[in-house]
Amino acid sequence: MTHSTGTLYIISAPSGAGKTSLVKALIDAEPQIRVSVSHTTRAMRPGEANGVNYHFVDRAEFVRMVEHGDFLEQAEVFGNLYGTSQSHLQQTLDEGHDLILEIDWQGAEQVRRQMPAARSIFILPPSQQALRQRLTNRGQDSDAIIEGRMREAVSEMSHYVEYDFLIINDDFAHALDDLKAIFRANRLQQRPQQQHFTQLLSELLA
Ligand code: 5GP
Repeated sequence: MTHSTGTLYIISAPSGAGKTSLVKALIDAEPQIRVSVSHTTRAMRPGEANGVNYHFVDRAEFVRMVEHGDFLEQAEVFGNLYGTSQSHLQQTLDEGHDLILEIDWQGAEQVRRQMPAARSIFILPPSQQALRQRLTNRGQDSDAIIEGRMREAVSEMSHYVEYDFLIINDDFAHALDDLKAIFRANRLQQRPQQQHFTQLLSELLA
């Protein structure tokens, strides 16, 4: 019997657009969807755990993995290295699970080249003002740091044109519905439906 393979999804957003919370809510509602855990050289933040949020490695280990060809894509973001390891990726898709890569636009570009069937989603904040508010609420950072983050966010957002889907995260519940709709519509396409309902289709046409 044939079984349907999962779809690879790329999700990007500027920091402060709410990407991580949206993906977490999606996975809570639809646990058959998997999220890839990236490798990074950045320091662990309070509340993060190794192997859960990221695989935290030092620069030497990261470079060794690059030389070994372990990464599907990798990029430097804000001075830290990030990469998606190849291992488990194809296996997860072959098992029929949709898989999400939460990566930046540079990584998205590399994945699209190698896996053209991947679908990409960009999440945007409702306004610059809302984004600044979200970046300010995160901690007691100076105005200079916040302005720097705003510039980085605008530069990341300029890549929205390269993505298949755009979600505006104004109202969280609405944005989550939009995200779920993309996954659902994709599963309803003829090819995955044909694979899923092989028996039914042959009975209907008998
Ligand atoms: P953070 O350090 O705040 O978790 O993530 C910073 C940025 O790095 C985000 O834009 C995030 O999407 C991106 N990022 C996280 N993991 C990867 C990865 O494996 N590859 C690439 N290219 N970017 C990543």
